[in-house]
Amino acid sequence: SYTVNPDIPGIREQTFIAVKPDGVQRRLIGQIVQRFEQRGFRLVGLKMVQVSEELLSQHYACLHRKPFYPSLLRYMTSGPIIAMVWEGHNVVRSSRMLVGETNPAEAAPGTLRGDFSVHISRNVVHASDSVEVAKKEIALWFQRSELIEWETCDHGSIYHP
Ligand code: UDP
Repeated sequence: SYTVNPDIPGIREQTFIAVKPDGVQRRLIGQIVQRFEQRGFRLVGLKMVQVSEELLSQHYACLHRKPFYPSLLRYMTSGPIIAMVWEGHNVVRSSRMLVGETNPAEAAPGTLRGDFSVHISRNVVHASDSVEVAKKEIALWFQRSELIEWETCDHGSIYHP
């Protein structure tokens, strides 16, 4: 069975990460997954999905009134998405930093958006922006049975000095 050291707070934190349709079209899935793996986070769920407007309207519920919302819907339904759940200490905050600013022009080199995108409307990857939002997004995109509890063999090297 699966156990983690309870002394490390937040170790079971999870976040929702997606390779958006432009990232999939541009064959960036591997490089994006690699950045989360090499950092030391644990992949607990992954699937390729063609999503409905209904799911997206829930996912982007805060953006319904924005002028870019209709084109955002078209973009996000234009092709398959890779939906993932990643787990680890401070994974929500660390993932936002890995992904970079929403507008690629402001995303630092070395971030996924800073390295792989140019325009805000095609910024290749999504990352939940808070622990609370992450919980909602994971519940929206995944069934419990699609998330795997497991332990990596290097767990002790990543979490113990
Ligand atoms: N977006 C856009 N134009 C804008 C702002 C946002 O097309 O002016 C898109 C972009 O794909 C962004 C998504 O809407 O990633 C969600 O916006 P949010 O502000 O939640 O940014 P994120 O959390 O993705 O960084």
